Amino acid sequence: MKAVRIKKQGGPEVMRFDDVDQPQPAATEVLIKVEAAGINYIDTYQRSGLYQIPLPATLGLEASGTVDAIGSDVSRFKIGDRVAYTNVLGAYAEYSAVDQDKVVAIPDGVSFNEGAAAMLQGCTAHYLSQSTYPIKNGDSCLIHAAAGGVGLILTQMAKNAGAYVIGTVSTQEKAELARAAGADEVILYTETDFETEVKRITDGAGINVVYDSVGKTTFDKSIECLQRFGCMVLYGNASGPVTQFNPATLGPKGSLFLTRPTLFDYIADRESLEWRSGDVFKWIDEGKLSLRLEHFFSLADAREAHQALEGRKTTGKIILTP
Ligand code: NDP
Repeated sequence: MKAVRIKKQGGPEVMRFDDVDQPQPAATEVLIKVEAAGINYIDTYQRSGLYQIPLPATLGLEASGTVDAIGSDVSRFKIGDRVAYTNVLGAYAEYSAVDQDKVVAIPDGVSFNEGAAAMLQGCTAHYLSQSTYPIKNGDSCLIHAAAGGVGLILTQMAKNAGAYVIGTVSTQEKAELARAAGADEVILYTETDFETEVKRITDGAGINVVYDSVGKTTFDKSIECLQRFGCMVLYGNASGPVTQFNPATLGPKGSLFLTRPTLFDYIADRESLEWRSGDVFKWIDEGKLSLRLEHFFSLADAREAHQALEGRKTTGKIILTP
């Protein structure tokens, strides 16, 4: 079968479209014929070396497809079931073998593309808005990269929870998408100082929570946007990692909270995975959540997909189709 592999970490050029053996499902695994593999920013960290992974590796942490074969001890699924998964490496491939406990069924009203798009970014937006900082009606939040994959979903979930949402984006086109997703105010943070704007918009009061996936270029100013007891949620490094921080500064700025969460803790057990993915699928089916699926690449063109994502050329979800 075909798969997108890396033997060493580096730029997009290290990705190879290789022939590899089709995996055989172990006793508790299902073999999934991949219909859609989701691309996520973390894939670029795992490719570049910002995050370490065992090598050689098939990239990709999320896919949807049909169960093609099952291991001897599989009880949750049967051949032919429509399924999706996240948090297992190897999605950029025609087939992947995944432990049944990491796999969920896709409801009839949800397409394969939506299934692939919903898992990693959808469950991330779910835990950020429901668990890390559970948004209450009337809260205010700042969402960076609001037209990105997580950003557009988180904006909708924050609005549905009753928040006043300020989004940041780099272009006018992205600003329109963030507004359409429900953002009350959108700041072009590449042109305008977002800290000044947030203070202006909130009459100096500041906001309850910042969801910051950009990291290096936004972290310091994000903290300045918070009101007393505000919560700084640093969940990504699209502009580079934050490496210098003195926790003592959180006190005088208003007894602030700082957390650096990862999805994998928030879906570590079966109950959490089913709760979060179940809500995401239900909200898609009910029309409360709309996924932007605009960028499709073939597996052979995975390099171009990474270049587009890292070049800030994409909005919403990028899907690879085998
Ligand atoms: P996005 O679709 O949001 O793409 C990243 C966006 O970041 C870009 O489109 C761009 O938006 C913005 N950005 C700002 N500065 C830069 C820069 N210097 N280079 C590139 N992009 C920049 O990706 P995802 O939705 O897949 O992921 C968003 C973030 O969330 C990532 O940082 C990812 O690691 C993180 N994440 C964290 C998880 C966790 O559990 N901790 C789980 C899932 C994702 P713009 O042009 O508008 O600035």
